[in-house]
Amino acid sequence: MALLMETRLLLRKVKDLRCLTQKRHRVKEKWAATRIKHPATGLALQNFDSTYSVQLGPLWPSVRAALLSERKYGALLNNYGHDDVQAELQAKGCKDFPSDIETEGSTAQPCLEQEPEVTGEEESTHVSVNKSDLDARQLPALQLSPNIKCLVFPRGDITRFKPARPDMFGCLGYYLMDAASVLPCLALNVQEGHNVLDLCAAPGGKTLALLQTKSIGFFGVNDASVSRTTRLRKVLGSYIPKPLLSDEKLRITTFDGTKWGEIEKNTFDRVLVDVPCTTDRHSLMEDDNNIFSKNRTGERRRLPQLQLDLLLAGIEAACPGGEILYSTCTLSQIQNLSVVEQAIHTAREDHGIQLQVVDLRPLTHMFRKTFDFAPDLPLGEMVVPHLAANFGPIYMCKLRRLT
Ligand code: SAM
Repeated sequence: MALLMETRLLLRKVKDLRCLTQKRHRVKEKWAATRIKHPATGLALQNFDSTYSVQLGPLWPSVRAALLSERKYGALLNNYGHDDVQAELQAKGCKDFPSDIETEGSTAQPCLEQEPEVTGEEESTHVSVNKSDLDARQLPALQLSPNIKCLVFPRGDITRFKPARPDMFGCLGYYLMDAASVLPCLALNVQEGHNVLDLCAAPGGKTLALLQTKSIGFFGVNDASVSRTTRLRKVLGSYIPKPLLSDEKLRITTFDGTKWGEIEKNTFDRVLVDVPCTTDRHSLMEDDNNIFSKNRTGERRRLPQLQLDLLLAGIEAACPGGEILYSTCTLSQIQNLSVVEQAIHTAREDHGIQLQVVDLRPLTHMFRKTFDFAPDLPLGEMVVPHLAANFGPIYMCKLRRLT
């Protein structure tokens, strides 16, 4: 009875308050006609819930929680800067993850050539191998690109980085990016004097990471989008000395990457193919420019074909013996494994190019302290977001041209 009285009193108070608030100051719901009924972020979540709960099984709830939480960044150190930023960040508790590795059982050090794992001679459906059969000590060696440093706060520590400050020459000391995005650049294994192509480069985080190696002979940096390439130039301009940017050894272009094979075949020692994808984290967080918005449905459905065309162009651009790194920031099997499988098949059937899949398990083994990797992926490796290590998703698969 007392509860009923209290509720009535409360309702009367609310009514009185409404009377006191002038009509024009009352907050109204948006008119039904203008209110977005199905925000793109909601559509993305629906899509991921239905596909990833099947694909990832019991792992999905924890990945989902991480994807819906604040992401973690890494600070890519700028080797062209003049301040001792590394010491400053280390004093705050950060560690350079590429050098903070688990050595037990891993073969991080100089390269021993790997035995072919899977070649294009096999049917594309046979690309899967049971990778869990080998333990860490049996992993083949893997050489990584040198000089790339990326500082992160330890697992479970969600401290944010402050924005980088310019040094006395106007150069920024670090670039904030998803630390997992550095992995494809490390895995590319750029060596002294290599000709490198970054086929889909903007806004330039991975381009900047590759430039940190200071060992590239010629660097082709491309992105089809003019506006995004302008952004990339701006990013590079804040980190790289001017003479280096205007050097003819660095060429920035805005071609359609799918046509690259027609322009420059059999040329590059290393090709990074970091394709457009459903950018899962962004799609869950931002309604603006969201690939799941209704008016971009066609574009979203065409993504796997575009990704395949870009990867095939990258494969053609590489020289025989050259290596290609395919990467995305989605968990989607259709945009990851299926694209790579199809590319291996088409490269062999239509272009006579045999490919070998390079085993990246040494890399996941080395960096297991920093990142969570999807267990037993049949092809390639994937960083999966986790609340204690909220990086990724990043999928990567490395191919070597045999012919
Ligand atoms: N690698 C970049 C980085 O680390 O900052 C991110 C690349 S983003 C995932 C994909 C890029 O592909 C976009 O910048 C987009 O403009 C570009 N792109 C889309 N279609 C393309 C095409 N046909 N040829 C080349 N680039 C393309």
